[in-house]
Amino acid sequence: MSPIELSVEFFPPQTPEGADKLRATWTTLASLKPTFFSVTFGAGGSTQDRTFDTVAEIRAAGLEAAPHLSCVGSTRTRVREILHRYRAAGIRRIVALRGDLPSGMAEAGELGHANELVEFIRQETGDWFHIEVAAYPEYHPQARTPHDDLLNFKRKAAAGADSAITQFFFNADAYEHFVSDARAIGVGLPIVPGIMPIASFSKLARFADSCGAEIPRWMRRKFESYGDDTASVRAFGLDVVTELCRRLIERGAPGLHFYTLNQAGLTMEVARRLGF
Ligand SMILES: Cc1cc2nc3c(=O)[nH]c(=O)nc-3n(C[C@H](O)[C@H](O)[C@H](O)COP(=O)(O)OP(=O)(O)OC[C@H]3O[C@@H](n4cnc5c(N)ncnc54)[C@H](O)[C@@H]3O)c2cc1C
Repeated sequence: MSPIELSVEFFPPQTPEGADKLRATWTTLASLKPTFFSVTFGAGGSTQDRTFDTVAEIRAAGLEAAPHLSCVGSTRTRVREILHRYRAAGIRRIVALRGDLPSGMAEAGELGHANELVEFIRQETGDWFHIEVAAYPEYHPQARTPHDDLLNFKRKAAAGADSAITQFFFNADAYEHFVSDARAIGVGLPIVPGIMPIASFSKLARFADSCGAEIPRWMRRKFESYGDDTASVRAFGLDVVTELCRRLIERGAPGLHFYTLNQAGLTMEVARRLGF
């Protein structure tokens, strides 16, 4: 058993069937004893109640659940209400994000960047929440320069974040450089790699394009060559992701955060291969 910590991420289900499926997923994943289960939040508040309900249900089962909260398009009053609702429900961990403005939504909101959200959470609720923030080993797509992005990451730490979870990536060197650059400018918080298990190459390519993550050419070419052969895509994806995790653990990553897309199978298999 590896000593590092695992966490897993879900999105809030949209239908009762989706909720049943997710229940089965987190029940299975609970056997890995993750430190927490996080649940995403639709920017602009579109999933606010579903995020809350999912987190409340996981917590009611005696597991630690962490809602994501994004501030884009929102107001201090609305964010305050959400924070107090979570606090009243006994939630102690939160993933604080800026989010992305949904198309058609023009108002950026009162809190412009995640560092302002972190600061606001600390002002409102003191040390109640363990605050996670996002980090980008391949840099955020809107960042002017890598150094700028790093300084903006530092602002989140300075505002009171406790730890960070990265965007997914496939290049362990990018993670290592990012962590070492962060340490060099005095950011000491744990930076946990975000891991994306691969079930479908087309889906992966879409995610990667939208968030600025790079799929290395050798991987892309191999996935493309498998076409509709889902068994080969799955087998290759498992090999690549397991190897990435192994390297990250060897290089001292403090944990692994799995983007499960509400499926247990691939995450369970990677964890099994890693000896969890
Ligand atoms: C682990 C993880 C979980 C996520 N969960 C969700 C989710 O649940 N819902 C969702 O909608 N999205 C989610 N996202 C996506 C995220 O919302 C987007 O990547 C978004 O574009 C940036 O959010 P952020 O919190 O990193 O923003 P920020 O840290 O605010 O950074 C955004 C950009 O602004 C720059 N910047 C930051 N601070 C400043 C500042 N003070 N002044 C000037 N520029 C600044 C940064 O360099 C960066 O380019 C998640 C991402 C990750 C990595």
